[in-house]
Amino acid sequence: RGSVRFEDVRFAYDPDRPILKGLTFDVPAGKTVAIVGPSGAGKSTLSRLLFRLYDVSGGRILIDGQDIRDVTQESLRAAIGMVPQDTVLFNDTIRYNIRYGRWDASDEEVEAAARTAQIDDFIRMSPKGYETEVGERGLKLSGGEKQRVAIARTVLKAPPILVLDEATSALDSHTEHEIQEALERVSRNRTSLVIAHRLSTIVGADEIIVLDRGRIAERGTHVELLAAE
Ligand code: ADP
Ligand code: ADP
Repeated sequence: RGSVRFEDVRFAYDPDRPILKGLTFDVPAGKTVAIVGPSGAGKSTLSRLLFRLYDVSGGRILIDGQDIRDVTQESLRAAIGMVPQDTVLFNDTIRYNIRYGRWDASDEEVEAAARTAQIDDFIRMSPKGYETEVGERGLKLSGGEKQRVAIARTVLKAPPILVLDEATSALDSHTEHEIQEALERVSRNRTSLVIAHRLSTIVGADEIIVLDRGRIAERGTHVELLAAE
């Protein structure tokens, strides 16, 4: 459950200017594949296609063997969870922000998700714990704390497929390291597509795909790619 396949995927925003030029790769169920490449390579475009913000111009994208054009937006959104680069939290409590989209989750489930995202210590030390108000009218969280609330929300939602979009790039290196640990725990044993611009920020991926100007330039494990450098 939760495999992704890109099959000769082509895409252009403007017909005269191809952006993705025939990408084929698999993210097998439970595995982590990282897409690395310089700015402009087409990484964000690739994730937009997976969410069907745009349709492919050629080829197809399959989830569990099914073309995503044959899947409703609702089931696509239920199948894929996203930890965005820059998290915006609601002006509400920490509990509300973690529970968002999973209104049926119990307090125990919310707290277990916070532990997995390694934000439970921080929450316990906050003025009113899980009932602490955050955002403009409440406690201001750092970029790393916001990110971890977003990770806890994703853990609770438990989507079969996870997309981590340069999820740590907006943070300083100490925070980045902490968040990477949390992300690695979350993506372990879950089908994950990690999008990053530097090879050095990728930890624990089963395969790394180097994208350059819309084509796969190289692919392999971390060790193989470092050896080739
Ligand atoms: P990356 O995420 O690797 O930096 P992008 O997917 O954002 O790459 O961009 C790939 C190319 O597509 C770039 O040349 C960019 O200018 C172009 N591009 C991205 N978004 C749009 C858009 N909405 N309309 C037209 N061109 C776009
Ligand atoms: P939900 O809306 O079910 O809470 P998510 O929080 O995972 O789902 O994602 C929010 C929405 O943001 C997605 O449903 C998708 O439409 C949009 N989105 C996800 N990834 C990207 C992306 N890389 N670029 C632009 N929009 C995206």
